[in-house]
Amino acid sequence: ASSIDLRGLHKRFGKTTIALDGVDLTIEAGEFFTLLGPSGCGKTTLLRILAGLEEPDAGSLRIGDRDITDTPPHKRSVNTVFQSYALFPHLSVRDNLAFGLRMQGIPLEQRKAKVAEIADFIQLGDLVERRVDRLSGGQRQRIALARALICEPNVLLLDEPLSALDAGLRGQLQVELQRIQKRLGMTFVFVTHDQDEAMVMSDRIAVLDSGIIQQVGTPSEVYEHPVNAFVARFMGHDNLFAIQRSADNWVDTDLGRLQLDPAQQRSEQQGWLLIRPETLELGGDVPAGYNRLEGIVKERLYRGSRIEYRLEVNGVTLMAVASNLGQRLHAVDDRVTISVCPEDLVRVAA
Ligand code: ADP
Ligand code: MG
Repeated sequence: ASSIDLRGLHKRFGKTTIALDGVDLTIEAGEFFTLLGPSGCGKTTLLRILAGLEEPDAGSLRIGDRDITDTPPHKRSVNTVFQSYALFPHLSVRDNLAFGLRMQGIPLEQRKAKVAEIADFIQLGDLVERRVDRLSGGQRQRIALARALICEPNVLLLDEPLSALDAGLRGQLQVELQRIQKRLGMTFVFVTHDQDEAMVMSDRIAVLDSGIIQQVGTPSEVYEHPVNAFVARFMGHDNLFAIQRSADNWVDTDLGRLQLDPAQQRSEQQGWLLIRPETLELGGDVPAGYNRLEGIVKERLYRGSRIEYRLEVNGVTLMAVASNLGQRLHAVDDRVTISVCPEDLVRVAA
């Protein structure tokens, strides 16, 4: 496995489209690293620059201790898996897998051995004779992955490889892909626009917006402590409230005044208050030291393992999530007390 170091990457298309606007990033050797962001934020451009398929306007790239800024694609020890499988549909699994090895001039006997090994590894050993157009979507995606792995690159780039699959299969391949990466100890740079996928798979995530990295961190860092409102919203947070006034240990928002941990003190007055829905307690007594809010249940969504509530507090919407452990359900139109622990409140920059 190799580390990756990107410095000052800029890329424009035409006069007006800025795809990358100064990207600095270090990816550790053996890391499962994910680029996460909305469509058009520059994820594919960044991968293509890493692969050598696109040239940056400015900046430099290193893989391991080699500067590869001017290295042609086939000499970078990088391979890519795309969303579209890019397989030869009329060829067998075996021929698809052997293709890259043949291009490298690897002799037949060795090719056979490697194909057998990798097919076993991805648990498709009994399908090697089958034509690719006779395989399911999930099987094809595993073949595409195997074909990229077979040349043993130091770095594997994956551009939304699971996006075309249905939810069940996708979840299964998320786990499988992660297991394969850990077993091989290879550096994976994975691209997705799906924050749940990013959180479940990654060692670390970089959140991109408009060609700029907004935050780099572990899934829990990015989810629990987003650095700004964009990252918070993109990670799926609904409970963001504009801070109108603040002091050492309290903030005023549309919800009212809330006490928070003095560690959350910020020099800037404005910004946002983030409340994670799973930190709210509904009903019952409010523990000492907690904030107390009162709300009305406007909507209740049964999600099986959990119950989601849309509450109205002081005329604004507050989302809460309770685990479905057989505690009393609150009904629509119920008035409920809401306990908010000061330590669970997070201030987020604008
Ligand atoms: P993502 O993969 O995050 O959806 P891309 O890297 O594909 O984003 O695109 C970033 C921006 O650059 C978008 O505005 C896109 O339209 C533009 N772009 C990407 N590739 C090209 C290209 N070959 N020619 C012109 N514009 C491009
Ligand atoms: Mg893309």
